[in-house]
Amino acid sequence: MEKERSAPVQGEPIAAVATPVGVGALAIVRMSGEGVFAIADRIFVGARDSGTPLSAAAGYTARFGRLYDGGTMLDEAVALVFRSPHSFTAEDMVEITCHGGPVVTKHVLQVLLDNGCRLAEPGEFTRRAFLNGRIDLLQAEAIGEMIHARSEAAYRTAVGQLKGGLSEKLDALRERLLGSCALLELELDFSEEDLEFQSRGELSEQVDGLRSEVERLVDSYQHGRLLCEGVATAIIGRPNAGKSTLLNALLGEERAIVSHMPGTTRDYIEECFVHDKTMFRLTDTAGLREAVEEIEHEGIRRSYEKIAQADLILFLLDIGEENYEEEITTIQKIVDEYPSTKLLVVANKADSTEDAGERMENIGEETGLSVLGISALHEEGLEELKREMNVMTEGLDKLHDASVLVTSMRHYEALRNAQDVLRNAGELIGEQAETELVAFELRSALDYVGEITGKVVNEEVLNLIFDRFCIGK
Ligand code: GDP
Repeated sequence: MEKERSAPVQGEPIAAVATPVGVGALAIVRMSGEGVFAIADRIFVGARDSGTPLSAAAGYTARFGRLYDGGTMLDEAVALVFRSPHSFTAEDMVEITCHGGPVVTKHVLQVLLDNGCRLAEPGEFTRRAFLNGRIDLLQAEAIGEMIHARSEAAYRTAVGQLKGGLSEKLDALRERLLGSCALLELELDFSEEDLEFQSRGELSEQVDGLRSEVERLVDSYQHGRLLCEGVATAIIGRPNAGKSTLLNALLGEERAIVSHMPGTTRDYIEECFVHDKTMFRLTDTAGLREAVEEIEHEGIRRSYEKIAQADLILFLLDIGEENYEEEITTIQKIVDEYPSTKLLVVANKADSTEDAGERMENIGEETGLSVLGISALHEEGLEELKREMNVMTEGLDKLHDASVLVTSMRHYEALRNAQDVLRNAGELIGEQAETELVAFELRSALDYVGEITGKVVNEEVLNLIFDRFCIGK
């Protein structure tokens, strides 16, 4: 379904508390849609406007006054008037700033509901902003990302997306695709006359150009994801190798964010630190061993899952131990099974034995990897370790990179699909296939790109996106 941008539609009035639940100095209760000024007039009496109703106020006016439920005063408040289309939703809106307490806000919301508003669904305000063409889908998602951002980088990428960098790029791509499609459609209209409005050579060049541009965006995803989420770094090794000690030492000075991930168990914790503008998301996993007691199974499985998800693995071993054959086997196994994951062998407790150097050399020879000696406990070798972590992930993630990036899985998948159908289109042109077939592929590409910004609306996608929002956003 192709969506037309038209004058804002005023939906039925909705209301919600926009601020978090709990005790605070102030809270905001907002309403949007047809008739919200009339509703405001029934419950709000301005203090200094000698009877002028709120509905007579110009857009962007703030009024101080009192809120009433019939004859009962509820609170003193400030009411802010937004007139369509100059509001967040592009509808008429009133934002009421009242005192922040769960009971006060409950009463204020209730009086709006009693006077004709319906309780807003999660993300409904943003959804209306999108449906009214105030923002595109990417920007709507950016608002969601911004609210949920746990790191400076994630926040900054969301702001970039809200500003419209990616939207512009995709719109331009879509325009070019439309151009190619239009010429092909014309040919189809005149199919009996066997006309070619554009040479196949030219078309092929255009399609190639489009494909490589889509490819660049697809390729930016890994970078974009790392930028938002950080380099997923797993610290693994036998119990007592010093994983927790290393984790704490690394997080020590440069701890950026303490994140409480849902589903965190005693098996692993996850925290981030930033070194030289790269964010590392560290996980401390349960010990890895082949033979383990039953009780440890869940933890072991999780460790392997973490390895599969990691961008960088710090394989920690206790160099004070004489026997490290088992570790060498595990290292080789990881290298075989996860060839694209970066692996750094770290020999911990280098302070505890004089044989550290010799043992490290052995391990290096047997695994073919370089081995870095540290003492997590005495914080020795940590600078070298961090430097090496940066070198190994060089280019994967840089906070200062301002280019347009794809950060969302949804966008990535749509772009991958677009890339596929453009590749098909290119091949079909090469084979001098029928115009209809080429046109079909190009139209699909158009749909895939349109899905991202919301030019092509898919109800299911909209539900997925807006359900993630909270009520009141
Ligand atoms: P984990 O089971 O791998 O998380 O290991 P821990 O971090 O709990 O460390 C196990 C033990 O090794 C603790 O008693 C630590 O104090 C000790 N340890 C950790 N790092 C070092 C180190 O660099 N040198 C020495 N001598 N002991 C260490």
